[in-house]
Amino acid sequence: MKQRKKLLLHTCCGPCLTHVHSVLSVEYDTVVFYYNPNIAPQAEYAQRLSEVKQFTTIHNVVLLTGRYNQADWFKAVREQRFSGELSPRCYLCYSLRLKETFDVAKQCKYDVVCTTLSVSPYKDAEKINEIGRSFAELYGIQFIEADFKQNGGYQHSIVLSKQYGMYRQKYCGCVYSRLERDKNSLWSIKSNNYKKNMITANNKY
Ligand code: SF4
Repeated sequence: MKQRKKLLLHTCCGPCLTHVHSVLSVEYDTVVFYYNPNIAPQAEYAQRLSEVKQFTTIHNVVLLTGRYNQADWFKAVREQRFSGELSPRCYLCYSLRLKETFDVAKQCKYDVVCTTLSVSPYKDAEKINEIGRSFAELYGIQFIEADFKQNGGYQHSIVLSKQYGMYRQKYCGCVYSRLERDKNSLWSIKSNNYKKNMITANNKY
């Protein structure tokens, strides 16, 4: 019998995990890795982790919890903090989380790495795959490229998370995305001005 590969699945939250697990567990021996130092406040981080724990317990899946090293996350995205969602700020955020996943995969000898991040319509799958590819080359570990929101994947995650009675968050995760929900917040105004200035500066050259 063909041996199943060991997959380390970076997981951002329970709802996204439901769909991705249903797709990948058919082929891989999956271990879930919750590593999200971007999430704030800490109570929100804990609530999302608790949903993931509940799901992994039901499905008898091993769950590894990463560090909650928020200071490193703030440092990593600082230069791009005003650039909003689906922007270079998010690319730095994906990169930090994927790098840690590859580090753990390397240490613990996993065959394959993947992430649930692309389930969300607010995540850039092309960029996630590009970052995953570059780490795959660097670490010599396979990365599963995907856009899990496609083919009804996002809708499927909604259906499943409702079935499990999961909490569904109202913002992506970081303190900035939380502030950006209110288009009239001081943060949103600053962020919009920053983006306008960037466009003007780019058009000058
Ligand atoms: S909006 Fe989401 S992906 Fe972008 S930086 Fe914040 S937490 Fe990370």
